Amino acid sequence: MPGDPLAELVSSVSRPLTFLRDADAGQRARTRLPVSAWLDRIDRLGAEQPILAELGVIFRRLEDAEARQETELLDRALALLGQLAGKPAPTPLERAAEPREKREPTGAPPPVVARPAAPLREEPPTEPEIARYLAALGEPTTSLRGVGPQRAKDLAKFGLETVEDVLYHLPFRYEDRRRLAVVGDLREGDAATVSLTLSGVQDRTIGRRGRRVLRVVGRDETGVVELVWFHQIRYFRSRLKEGSRWLVHGRVERGYDTALRMTHPEMESVDEAEAQSAPRIVPVYEKPTAMPASAMRRIAHAAVRAHAALIPDTIPVDHRRRLGLRALADAFACVHDPESDEDVDLLGRGASDCHRAIIFDELFFVQLGLLLRKAAVAREAGIGFERPGSLVSRLLEELPFELTGAQARVLEEIGEDMEAARPMHRLLQGDVGSGKTVIAVAAALRAIESGYQAVLMAPTELLAEQHWRTVQKVAGGLDVGLWCLTGETPAAERRDALEQLADGVPGLVVGTHALIQDDVRFGRLGLTVIDEQHRFGVLQRAALSRSEGELPPDVLLMTATPIPRTMALSVYGDLDLSTIDELPPSRKPVTTRLFGAAQRARAYETVRSEVAAGRQAYVVYPLVEESEKSDLRDATSAAEELAAGPFSDFRVALVHGRMASSERDVVMRAFRDGEYDILVATTVIEVGIDVPNASVIVIEHAERFGLSQLHQLRGRVGRGSDAAYCLLIADYAQSEDAKERLRVMTETSDGLRIAEADLEIRGPGALLGTRQAGVPDFRVASLLRDAGILREARRLAEQILAGDPGLTSEASRPIAHLLDARWAGRLGLARVG
Ligand code: ADP
Ligand code: MG
Repeated sequence: MPGDPLAELVSSVSRPLTFLRDADAGQRARTRLPVSAWLDRIDRLGAEQPILAELGVIFRRLEDAEARQETELLDRALALLGQLAGKPAPTPLERAAEPREKREPTGAPPPVVARPAAPLREEPPTEPEIARYLAALGEPTTSLRGVGPQRAKDLAKFGLETVEDVLYHLPFRYEDRRRLAVVGDLREGDAATVSLTLSGVQDRTIGRRGRRVLRVVGRDETGVVELVWFHQIRYFRSRLKEGSRWLVHGRVERGYDTALRMTHPEMESVDEAEAQSAPRIVPVYEKPTAMPASAMRRIAHAAVRAHAALIPDTIPVDHRRRLGLRALADAFACVHDPESDEDVDLLGRGASDCHRAIIFDELFFVQLGLLLRKAAVAREAGIGFERPGSLVSRLLEELPFELTGAQARVLEEIGEDMEAARPMHRLLQGDVGSGKTVIAVAAALRAIESGYQAVLMAPTELLAEQHWRTVQKVAGGLDVGLWCLTGETPAAERRDALEQLADGVPGLVVGTHALIQDDVRFGRLGLTVIDEQHRFGVLQRAALSRSEGELPPDVLLMTATPIPRTMALSVYGDLDLSTIDELPPSRKPVTTRLFGAAQRARAYETVRSEVAAGRQAYVVYPLVEESEKSDLRDATSAAEELAAGPFSDFRVALVHGRMASSERDVVMRAFRDGEYDILVATTVIEVGIDVPNASVIVIEHAERFGLSQLHQLRGRVGRGSDAAYCLLIADYAQSEDAKERLRVMTETSDGLRIAEADLEIRGPGALLGTRQAGVPDFRVASLLRDAGILREARRLAEQILAGDPGLTSEASRPIAHLLDARWAGRLGLARVG
C-alpha cells in the first residue's frame, strides 16, 4: 500500500530482519542496520503506540552486535511487524511447520462480565469465630473429603500438611475451557480443549524393553487426534469405551507419523462436565508428581467448601470498602473455583480482585508485625550521642576527597539517629565502592567523641584487614584508640586490646567474628557496625546488640547488595534504610563484554595487554577441581594450563575455597602487594579484596553464576582510576534465565537494577540468603508483582497503629488475635511489642 507510512515501515524493516533471523552468526555480526532511520519513522508514526514503542526498544538493542545474535529478539520484532501488518504473529513452531493454511479463532469470545462481589459483613468477627477458624486451619489434610492416609502422605511430602496449607496453595495458572476447539483447527503447540468421540482403543507393548502404551483415536466432525498414555494404562483402558464422548484437554503434538496427538491429556466425560455446568475456568495446581491434576483440584475444592466460609475478615469493614477488598471467604472460593464469568487473564496473573484480597491480607499482617517490632525498639531507651564535635570535622578535613552528596546525606541520617535517645537500627546500602566504610568510620568517631566504643565487624579476615587499613588511613592521625582483632592478631596485642576494651577506653575496634567470642567484653559499647550483614546469622546480630548493664548500642548494618524497595519494606521493614546511590567521581564504569567459548582467546588478549601495561587480572571459575560428572573448566587445572600457556610470561597464582583460609590469605595478600599478575580463583574473592591495580576480571562459565554474584565479582575491578573490564565467558547451552542474567550484566552496572532483576529471576529468598536471616516467606504475595499492594498494606498498618499503637481497642481485638497466631505460627517469632 504505497503512501501508507506504517505499511512502508513494515515492508522496509521486515526484509532485513528476516534476513538476519535466517543468517549465521558471522553474517549477523557484520550486518549494519539503519536503526536511527527506523527510529525516526517510529517517532513520526507515534512512538507511544505500544507495538511501535516495543519495536523501538528492540531496534535500539539491535544496534549492538551482541544483541543481534539473539534469535528471540528478532523473532519478537518480526512478530510485532506481523501484527502491524494485520497478520497473526507466527510462533517458532509454526515457522517450522510452514507452509500451512491460515486459521481463524473459533468459538464466541467469552463473556467478561465480572460477577458482583459478595456483600461485606458489617460486624467484626467474634473471638470464638476466630478461634474456630484457627482450629480448622490446623486440621490435618486427612480431615478433607477425598484425602486418605496415602494421599495425605503424598501431600505432606509436597509440603501440604494442614487445611491451611491447602487453602493457601493457590493455582499457578488457569485453563480456559469455555472455548471448545475443533480438531481441524488444532496446531502443534496449542493447549486446547476438544470434545471427542473415541474409537480404536489399543493397548500395546512396544520396544525391546516392553514398554506399554495405550493409544486411542479421538474424532470430531473436522478431524482426528491420537491420544496416548504411557502410565495408568489399566485405569484408562477400563474407562475409555469405544464410542464414548469426552472433553479432552492437552497440549497438541505432532507424532512421528505427523498425525496430531496429545500425550496424557486430561479427560473428563461429557456427562461429568455437564454436571459441572461446563464450560468453565479450570484451576491448575502444582502437585505431587504422581497425583492426577483432577485429584489435586478436588482436594482444594474440598478445603474451600468445608472451610472458606470460616475465614474471618479482621480488617475493619470501612477500610475494606475503601480499598475495594472482597470478603476473604469469597476470595478464596473464587481463586480455587472461579465462576465462568471471571477474567481468566487476571486470574492467571494473580491480579484478580480475589487474589488482591488474599495478598493484601497476607502483606498487611506481615507489615503490622514488622511495624510493631520497630515501634518496640523505638520505645527502648538508647544512647543519645552528643552533637558532632571536632573529631568528625577533622576526619572530613583530612580525607583526600570530598564526600559525595549521597554520602553526606546518609551521614546526616545516621547522625540524627545517633543523637536520639533510642537505639539506632539502620541499614546502609550502597554498591561496592560507593564509600560505605568512610561513613562507618565517621559514625564511629561520633560515638568516640561521646566517650563510647565502636566496633566494625566484617565477614572475613581479609575484609577486616581491608577495613583496618582504611580506618588507619583516614583516622590514624586523629589520636583515638584504634584496635584490630582478627585471627591473625598476635596474642600479646590481643590481650592488650581486650583489656582496654573491657576498661571502656573509647575507640574503634575492627575485626571479624573473633570479636564476639566470649573473651571479648566491651566496657562501653556505643555503636556496632556490621558489614555485609546478611552473611551473619540472626544470632550473631543479636549477640552484638547487647552489652551487660548498659544501654543497647546503636546498630548500623551495611550491605553492598542493594535491596529493592519492596524488599526493604517487607524483609527489612523493621529497619530504617539509608542508601548511597552515587559512586565517587573517580570511579570508572567497568566495561562488560560477553564472549562465547570460541572467543576466549580474544578475552585473554585483553588480559595480556592490561597486565603488560602493569595492571593485574582475576580469572574466576565456578569449581575448584575437575569433577567427573561435568566437563566444566575448573580453577585448579585451568591455573596450570594458563600458567603454562597463554599467560606463561606472567606470574599466576591460585586461590580456592578448599585451601585453608590462612593459606588463601597469604596468596591474596601477595596478589594485593603486586607479587602476582593474575589471580585464578573461585568465588572466594567475591566479597574479598580491594586491589585498585586490578583492572580486568574474566569470569568463566558466567552462565553458572547468579546475578548478584556476577555483580559482586565485577565490583572487584574498577576500584582504581584506570579503565576496567569485566569479560564474561559463557559456553554451554544456556537456560533462558542464564541468558537473561548475562544480558542484564552487559546492559547495566546499576546495582539496584541488578538486584531487582535478580529478585525477578530468582525470588526474594535467594537474593540475600534471607531465609537464614529469619525473613518471612510469603505464601501468596510476590514482592515483584505486588509492590502496589504492599505499599497499601503498609499504609493501612501504619494508619491502624497510629490510632491504636498497642492494638488494645475493642475494634483492633480481632486483628491482634490473628496477628499473634500468624507471627507465632508461620513466622516462628515471639509476640512483638
Ligand atoms: P564500600 O565499602 O562501599 O565498598 P569503600 O568505603 O571501601 O566502599 O570505598 C571505596 C574506595 O573509594 C576507598 O578507597 C575509599 O577511600 C574511596 N572513597 C570513598 N568515598 C570517596 C569519595 N567521596 N570520593 C573519592 N573516593 C572515595
Ligand atoms: Mg566495603
